[in-house]
Amino acid sequence: MQETHFKIRRGEIMGNIGIFANTTHILVTLTAFLLLFFSCFFTEKGSPVRRGIWFLFLGLILDFIVVWIEYKSFNVYKAGGNVEIYVFFELLLLLASMVLLAIAASQILLKNIPDLPVILGVAGLGLISVVSYVFIFPDGNMVSSLRYVFPVAGFAYLSVGFLSQVNQRYKSGYIMASVVTAAISILLILKLSHVSWALDGSELWYSAALFYVLLAMSILIIKINALSVKYEIQEQEIEKSNQRLADIIKSSPFPIILSKLGDDKIIMANTNAVKLFGILPQEVDRYRLKDFFVDVDNRRLLNERLEKEKEVQDFEILVKTPSGDTPFWLLASVNIIDYNYDVVLYAAFQDITSRKNREMLLKNQAIRDPLTSLYNRRYFEEEVFNRIVEAKAQNEEYCVLMLDADHFKRVNDTYGHKVGDKVLIELAGTCEKNLREDDIVARYGGEEFVVFLPHTGTKQAEVVAERLRESIASAVVYSDEGEEVRFTVSIGISSSEISDNVGMLIKTSDEALYRAKETGRNRYCVFHKDDLSKLGSEDETERKESQNHHPIFDKEDNREISLLDGIDSSRIQEDNVEIEEKKGRTGVNILGVDDEDL
Ligand code: GH3
Ligand code: MG
Ligand code: MG
Repeated sequence: MQETHFKIRRGEIMGNIGIFANTTHILVTLTAFLLLFFSCFFTEKGSPVRRGIWFLFLGLILDFIVVWIEYKSFNVYKAGGNVEIYVFFELLLLLASMVLLAIAASQILLKNIPDLPVILGVAGLGLISVVSYVFIFPDGNMVSSLRYVFPVAGFAYLSVGFLSQVNQRYKSGYIMASVVTAAISILLILKLSHVSWALDGSELWYSAALFYVLLAMSILIIKINALSVKYEIQEQEIEKSNQRLADIIKSSPFPIILSKLGDDKIIMANTNAVKLFGILPQEVDRYRLKDFFVDVDNRRLLNERLEKEKEVQDFEILVKTPSGDTPFWLLASVNIIDYNYDVVLYAAFQDITSRKNREMLLKNQAIRDPLTSLYNRRYFEEEVFNRIVEAKAQNEEYCVLMLDADHFKRVNDTYGHKVGDKVLIELAGTCEKNLREDDIVARYGGEEFVVFLPHTGTKQAEVVAERLRESIASAVVYSDEGEEVRFTVSIGISSSEISDNVGMLIKTSDEALYRAKETGRNRYCVFHKDDLSKLGSEDETERKESQNHHPIFDKEDNREISLLDGIDSSRIQEDNVEIEEKKGRTGVNILGVDDEDL
């Protein structure tokens, strides 16, 4: 077998074999090759195109190796060696490259690798012809032809594969890849046809690099286009889900609001919400959710809970409207959701004002006196107990005042019970007006009132008592006949110097009140520390026993006092026992209820 059977190529598909004789040429080609390699990474993950492009890449590696083999064989040929084996491997690799390019084309075109028998069939036929023309019937012309036929077939498949994708919405990448591969095929066909300028490859060493770069660009364009499609699809889906959510919100029977989590701005409110919050549908975006909260802390609490739980159910909110109507109560269920590329609060509401009002009413009934609306005795005792604990912790002073209307029986007798009631209401109002927000004033019994003054020493309490006395003395109510009815009170003062026990403070202020009554009424008296020794003395007990009638002791029928409202019967029983005990100790009928009534 003569090596002259085989012509040695000098510049073919992947450039000129001469590139292997020139470092710059080979570096440029390899760089372009690397570029293609990296662009392969960027094709859509998991897509058939990506797999196809990897096959394409493998095929091109083989082609590149072929150029190296040709370079080697050229040297061997020049030295007069046998190049038969080189030619065999050259053709074998070209065949393998063609099969890989065909698989790549099939992946891109049909999204599938051809069946194994088909691949083996094509590869087998190729192998038979290679073996035949190289070893069995060595034929230089046939070998030269095969050198072109395999790559032409491979690139033609690829070109068709890429072309098949031009029905896609973004086609530029595919068109470019198809044109590049078709151009390679045409160039090879021209060489096969011995067109002289195509054969003269000495100036075309860069064609390989150019080919890799163009193919890399096509692949990147395909990737960018695929991303655009994906983004568009995503956008459409988001648009659809937004629309769905908007429809659900619109048709909900509950008021629903969407607000941005970042700046709290309202972005959507359904008709029910717009009505509920008293805003105009077109002005929804002018408001923030927090604008509707009466209590800023409540809004903060909601946010804190949302941060922890992402979803808050049955959250009670006191809400105000921009028009400044009476605030009302809402029960809110709030979720954090994704909406239109934003994180938003989805809040659904239920108006619970009437339920809340009922609750408040019941609570008030339990702690307030229905005639004067002041707190009742029970609430006073419980609340003062707590306040004393606080005051002691802070080392603060406090005082208790006990007030009793003077000769109130006379008011009733002269003008009737209705006017008596009016006086009691006026008395309660005057007390409230003259006291601080922090003070607690309660109706303790029939015409008795009790006041707790926190952060107050005896001296200041005297000032308060005097102010109360004066204001009450100058108050007037009118009888049905239009007569002026004037009234006064006597006041007893006790303080934290005497005791830290509510019962004891009441008892001692009552004691001081007794003294005020005894010394002429319409005045105040202070219970001093020295008085403590007298409190339990026998004289005192005798004095109380000798007097059937305590000056501030109500012997009349006082059933209209509704202090027992909201207190159950077992509680009344307990109270009665307590009252009996108190009467035994102090001789004061604290509730002002007649013995017979008990
Ligand atoms: P003193 O100055 O000693 O306190 O004389 P007083 O008349 O105020 O004392 P007394 O305890 O004898 O009478 C209290 C009266 O208050 C008797 C009772 O009928 C009347 N009273 C108690 N509760 C009410 C009420 O809710 N409405 C009315 N109109 N009168 C009440
Ligand atoms: Mg009285
Ligand atoms: Mg009384």
